[in-house]
Amino acid sequence: MSALGSPTLPLVGILGGTFNPVHYGHLRSALELVERLQLAQLRLMPSAEPPHRDVPQCSAFHRAAMVEIAVAGEARLVCDARELKRAGKSYTIDSLIELRAELGSGTGLCLVMGCDAVLGITQWHRWQELLDWAHIVVIARPGWALPRSGEAAQWLHEHRVDDPQCLRQREAGCITIEELRPLAISSTEIREILAAGRSARYLLPQSVLDYIEAHTLYR
Ligand code: ATP
Repeated sequence: MSALGSPTLPLVGILGGTFNPVHYGHLRSALELVERLQLAQLRLMPSAEPPHRDVPQCSAFHRAAMVEIAVAGEARLVCDARELKRAGKSYTIDSLIELRAELGSGTGLCLVMGCDAVLGITQWHRWQELLDWAHIVVIARPGWALPRSGEAAQWLHEHRVDDPQCLRQREAGCITIEELRPLAISSTEIREILAAGRSARYLLPQSVLDYIEAHTLYR
């Protein structure tokens, strides 16, 4: 219990994405968020079959393997490969329901997403139910602004809390926006660099680059 007598729940974060490939933009944001929100753990969850974009050419197996390699040695970051084990489209709501059941009561769950993801949130399967299962933590991202009008803006307005401590007082239902160190790195740019035969060094861990080279990915 906090000094005010309200519960202070441990928090687990989940960051979904294609991670095609995982890079320092993902990893640094993940770690800063762990420290900022004092998350017990942040799970990076590669999507096997993303519903809102073309299925990546690089297999889910390789994308998850690269996440696994990238987080090795940082116990607070974990690769969560559950969407690879489910047939069909990788709907986030299904993963949240599964995670909620695994965590049981007494732990808050935080779904982390960049501003770019929030802009398309109303296209997500059962998007209005996401907050029944988790809080949402939005990462401000260079070059992206939050929606200012429409259903998504209204949703943000209704559920947004300014104090991240609110996330510890219930298991789900709040939205918070976190400004982290902006790193203008994207997987798209890394794929373009590699396809052009240029070096992507220092944009992602060397261990991931070694994996890409060993499996001749993105050529
Ligand atoms: P792509 O360029 O292929 O669209 P991406 O670099 O945006 O990929 P995703 O795997 O789609 O990476 O991203 C997973 C999640 O991480 C998304 O919520 C996205 O907003 C966030 N994210 C991606 N890059 C960054 C970054 N540089 N800083 C902070 N968040 C990021």
